[in-house]
Amino acid sequence: MPKRLLIVEPVATNRIRLAASLSAAHYDVETVSSLDDKAALIEPDMIVLGTGPDGLNGAEGALVPQQYQNTPVFCIDSDPTPMRRIKALRAGAREVLGRNLPDSLLLARLRSLIRESEASRECERRRVAAASFGFAEARSDFRPSFRIGCIGAKEDCARTVSLLSAILSHSVEYLSPDDVLREDASRHSPDAYVIIAETAHALEDLLPELRARSHLRHASVLVVFPQEADDVATTALNLGASDIAEVSSSGEEIAWRVDAMLERKHLQDQLRNSDEQSYRAAATDPLTGLYNRRYAEAYIADTLLSAHDSGQGFVMMLADIDHFKQVNDVHGHGAGDMVLCAVAERLRENVRACDLVSRHGGEEFLIVMPDTTEEEAGHTAERLRLAMASDPVVISDGARIDVTISIGVAAGKVPTAIPMQRTGTFDAPGASGPSVFGNVLEAADAALYRAKACGRNRVEFSVA
Ligand code: GH3
Ligand code: MG
Ligand code: MG
Repeated sequence: MPKRLLIVEPVATNRIRLAASLSAAHYDVETVSSLDDKAALIEPDMIVLGTGPDGLNGAEGALVPQQYQNTPVFCIDSDPTPMRRIKALRAGAREVLGRNLPDSLLLARLRSLIRESEASRECERRRVAAASFGFAEARSDFRPSFRIGCIGAKEDCARTVSLLSAILSHSVEYLSPDDVLREDASRHSPDAYVIIAETAHALEDLLPELRARSHLRHASVLVVFPQEADDVATTALNLGASDIAEVSSSGEEIAWRVDAMLERKHLQDQLRNSDEQSYRAAATDPLTGLYNRRYAEAYIADTLLSAHDSGQGFVMMLADIDHFKQVNDVHGHGAGDMVLCAVAERLRENVRACDLVSRHGGEEFLIVMPDTTEEEAGHTAERLRLAMASDPVVISDGARIDVTISIGVAAGKVPTAIPMQRTGTFDAPGASGPSVFGNVLEAADAALYRAKACGRNRVEFSVA
């Protein structure tokens, strides 16, 4: 759906020119001469507000009426002096640029602002959704101290560093482009960069490099461009800069933009983290921290598919705590919980990173090992058995509880002749996954049953 722009411009010729440029770029455009005249018909994604010599007089208050308070405002100003720009930003404008802007820059800035407002809307949607599932944490107003790296000619940067340090309570430092690319993931990487760019060419190397590094990817970037160098500003935006400022901007404006950019980043970081927490909560068992059945299903679907493609075998094991009911009966349910956690930990520590350990039921664990033969799995199973049997579990009151496990091992192969679909579950018609998975799991269960029947604390294999 095309994005809807509401152009508010008192001068008819300006209005017509702007509307023509933006309609040609496939925006859905409505024009009004003022927001007081009549209510706009559309609910805009953005307001493009033409401000003339008197247009910002009221800017000590809001730029737009209350009903548009959540709509980003892009000011096109007749005389965007540094003073007027900061005034408009303070009054709530998201951007202020001059009227004689080339269309390429106007459109690049619009695109980046719309992307940004969509990102914050999506963040808000996720926050509401997470809250409805009970995952969301209260949004914290606490703002950490950020690290800001300033890149560019050394003298220019020195001025900007001292300017920003005087106004903002963050750590600001000069970085050469080499320093930036040497930045390693173990340090607290900069949260934002201010790049003082002389040419578009300098950005063409640097910005993609920043975005390609996973630990720098989420840093915000403000590009300071030379006076009237619209090509540098356009390139910066097209390469994903978060914001731009002309070099004539006051220190106050640069600081304002950096601060606003960090505020948006902070919110997005918080949401990204809470997303990760939600995914973790949905995929893991809260007591032991192991993956749960839901995650195991997706993992197994993937394992079966790879086994099908590679022709390699895989192994499933079921491990069950012996006489666990007695642990609860003798030491109490709390102690039983601690034993479950200790078993989970020892199982997890004794398999490869690519293997899955999940909580399959009360005191039963499923272990899936891709690309593994039954013989290799036998060694692992024996190691797991010993990891439990050789040392008692010490619980919080100091009691030492002897715990053993029994393990049933079954190997499987997926016949390459049968076509498989990537479905993520096993119940899709035509997928051979359900039967292979079910058969191997059943075989592991039968082997576990035999291990119990043969006296427990032992490993048994399926009989093909
Ligand atoms: P076996 O050697 O034959 O496996 O005997 P068992 O006692 O381990 O097996 P049984 O199935 O008789 O009992 C399992 C017990 O596990 C019963 C149940 O209360 C307990 N249990 C299941 N989930 C939890 C849990 O989350 N915490 C605690 N503390 N106990 C649990
Ligand atoms: Mg048991
Ligand atoms: Mg059991």
